[in-house]
Amino acid sequence: MDSKRIRRCCLNDPDVFCYICGEYMAKEHRFNIRDVTKIAYQAYFGIKLGDQDKSWSPHKVCKYCTETLRLWTQGKAKSMKFGVPMVWREPKNHHDDCYFCMVKMSGWNRQKKNSWHYPDIHSARRPIPHCSEIQVPVFTALPDTAFTEAIDESSDSTYSSNSCNELLQISKAEPFTQGRLNDLVRDLGLSKDASEILASRLSEHHVLHSEAKITNYRRRDEELIRYFSEEGGFVFCNNIPGLLSAMGLSQYNPNEWRLFIDSSKRSLKCVLLHNGNKFACVPICHSVILKEHYATVKMVLQKLCYDEHNWIACVDLKMVNILLGQ
Ligand SMILES: [Zn+2]
Ligand SMILES: [Zn+2]
Repeated sequence: MDSKRIRRCCLNDPDVFCYICGEYMAKEHRFNIRDVTKIAYQAYFGIKLGDQDKSWSPHKVCKYCTETLRLWTQGKAKSMKFGVPMVWREPKNHHDDCYFCMVKMSGWNRQKKNSWHYPDIHSARRPIPHCSEIQVPVFTALPDTAFTEAIDESSDSTYSSNSCNELLQISKAEPFTQGRLNDLVRDLGLSKDASEILASRLSEHHVLHSEAKITNYRRRDEELIRYFSEEGGFVFCNNIPGLLSAMGLSQYNPNEWRLFIDSSKRSLKCVLLHNGNKFACVPICHSVILKEHYATVKMVLQKLCYDEHNWIACVDLKMVNILLGQ
């Protein structure tokens, strides 16, 4: 039978009944079924909260059920009123097998709430109270620590869309090792301070590997700084093979690199470019005071021991003029 047609014909909207206890809910007591509720439901009743893709099943839960389950997982509530929740099946007809058509809601009010009669039919089995066969489950632990976090976060009872899924994904994600974190920092081009903030945030969310150091970035320049010298506001690399080796290059061959010189009225920069771009470019000199003159460029090339390396130089036309002394 077409379940959509059934739904359209029902006297009551299925979503005005609680999926768990099956009782009618006043408007302000209807809540969406959140992941924390699903997890607590499974822990309490031992079955999964399903049917959410079906039109013949309720998609809301009442305040009593959702709150009691949450408090139970925190050890603050002893039990639900029942040990077996509502069991929903697709109704065969609207006449004597449809909960949503058979429950008569006229005359319902809060005072009569607890004594209201609901049918127990094939397509909607009413909850079964706890008894000697159906004992109150003892709460031990939720399957994952992230569940607990999700439940703690919902303690404010705001029922905002705070997502347990996100927490689950984070907790299941591999934590950032120092290497992965370094890659991320480099990809984002973060400063020392920003890198430290990022590492600290990741650590707060338990996604930083225990061996990774938050303060690592304060000294991230120390390893390479010895390959650079400074003379009067001009910084240059004093040991190119050493620098490249420290950056992880196994073998330095000058023929594989070319020198790119760029200057403007305000600054002068030299960068090594790898032929074939297999490696990233390596800045080897920088000055904000040197002017674009032949003498300047000559001095820079001397400092970089250009004669030892004999890289092919690539420059823009303006620099060609300077190099040619024009
Ligand atoms: Zn119906
Ligand atoms: Zn309920």
